[in-house]
Amino acid sequence: MAKKYRMRCPACGNVQNLTASAPCTKCGAPLDVEQQGMLAIYRMGNFMGAATGFGIYLNEQPYGAIGNRETLYIPLPFGEYKMHIVCGMSRKCNDPVFTLSPEDPFICTKVHMNMGFIQNSFVIERVDPSTMPQD
Ligand SMILES: [Zn+2]
Repeated sequence: MAKKYRMRCPACGNVQNLTASAPCTKCGAPLDVEQQGMLAIYRMGNFMGAATGFGIYLNEQPYGAIGNRETLYIPLPFGEYKMHIVCGMSRKCNDPVFTLSPEDPFICTKVHMNMGFIQNSFVIERVDPSTMPQD
């Protein structure tokens, strides 16, 4: 299966899935999946909220949703990215900051939900690329 890229159009902010570089479906600006860095996110399976997407935010910008047991690849220029995940009323997250750089251009992460009595919270962890599901 081809990698699923998720990009946010720098011109109009439209978020879309891509399997290769293509024009933005909204404004036609070119979206290039060959960026300097890449952030991969794998959503670990769980029962609660399995049917609903988790909303992804990078530096407060929405990057769409990720489904249960889904892997997304987000091509990005080098820089610092604070990752935040929300789902319905669950908005607590450990908000890690990842830095894409020439020394560290490919960062893999996994996200899971911790069940809480009052509120569920999300935990995002950096993982070794070899532990990511292969597709
Ligand atoms: Zn656009």
